[in-house]
Amino acid sequence: MISYGKQTIDEKDIDSIVEVLNSDWLTQGPAVEQFETNLKEYFGSKYACAVSNGTAALHLCGLALGWKKEDIILTSPLTFLATANSIIYCGATPDFVDINPKTYTIDPNLVEDKIKAYQKQGKKIKGIIGVDYAGHPCDWRALRQIANKYNLQLVNDNCHALGASYFNDKQYALKYADVVTQSYHPVKHITTGEGGSILTNDSGLDEKMRYFRSHGMIKQDELISQYGSWYYEMHQLGFNYRITDFQCALGSNQLNRLDSFISKRRKIAESYDSLLNLNPEIACIPKVSKNIEHAYHLYPYQIDFESIELDKRELFSRMKKSGVLLQVHYIPVHLQPYYQKNYGFKKNDFPISESFYSKEVSLPIYPTLSLKDQDIVTSSLTKIIFQ
Ligand SMILES: *Cc1c(COP(=O)(O)O)cnc(C)c1O
Repeated sequence: MISYGKQTIDEKDIDSIVEVLNSDWLTQGPAVEQFETNLKEYFGSKYACAVSNGTAALHLCGLALGWKKEDIILTSPLTFLATANSIIYCGATPDFVDINPKTYTIDPNLVEDKIKAYQKQGKKIKGIIGVDYAGHPCDWRALRQIANKYNLQLVNDNCHALGASYFNDKQYALKYADVVTQSYHPVKHITTGEGGSILTNDSGLDEKMRYFRSHGMIKQDELISQYGSWYYEMHQLGFNYRITDFQCALGSNQLNRLDSFISKRRKIAESYDSLLNLNPEIACIPKVSKNIEHAYHLYPYQIDFESIELDKRELFSRMKKSGVLLQVHYIPVHLQPYYQKNYGFKKNDFPISESFYSKEVSLPIYPTLSLKDQDIVTSSLTKIIFQ
């Protein structure tokens, strides 16, 4: 079966893990620090904090930014549950802003409308989480301007966009956002099994994330010299969100290959672009804005099921018979029963995301996808849609 995403593991990856398993440190050892150093270098951040998964990264980000009850955080409905859930973990309130229909990322004009609507009720927004959906960066210039104008915290949930560039800059994420979060789940660009990280240039935020990553424990030289080598203090409630050394060894090795992974993903996307752009009124390939190089975590193909009188479920089952497992990213978060029940969201609240969801199908894209398999995808798909 050909699925929408898959990890790429080689012998060096396996060797790197075995090496750590034979060492003294399985966790809290040098491979974690080394991975953090490599992340800082690649993404151009002053600080990097590796954690157990991308969801933990988002939670720690909210804790470090001080999100709490009464705080309102805006994000896109077109994201994985974790982005919005992390706001709730901190006790703050999530709200959504619809996407721009060309970029599928949060629409800055609608963000400003929403801020003004809240202002009219005497309420202030605390922050925005932009999601670089599918690997296409948000309009970060506009978001930064808005964040400055209204004094908001700006976060980039960058889980889809490792290796993307924005105005020719692969290190764009932290040039605009205050905090950047990543995930290394096997379907993402690089993997540590489960894993994630938080990047920032702010030493205070990094320090807080490190406390919260490990139970809120403070183990400082001054305290130790005063009270003894066993001594630690806890001032705030933290968690165990640590990642292991063998995962980080894998992560470092994967990061070395990120550029080659991205170029393979781009080649596959290029080929889909040329083979599947047969009639944009019926089926639309993902657009790429000027000044952007897409990282293609996903290849979101937009099919107008209504006009061709095809049911999405029918497409999925016919493709499955050809050996292709399609996916959909995402059911807009505000439509989840939990969000409807607890926050009063309803259908039609964010119509662009909802219409996108009804048309979206994620096609298989990962570095080891063979030409033969890609051909099965495109030929089966065009047969069903265009014949
Ligand atoms: C994968 C992902 C997450 C969560 O990461 P995990 O490592 O699975 O916890 C959060 N946000 C987005 C946009 C993601 O794609």
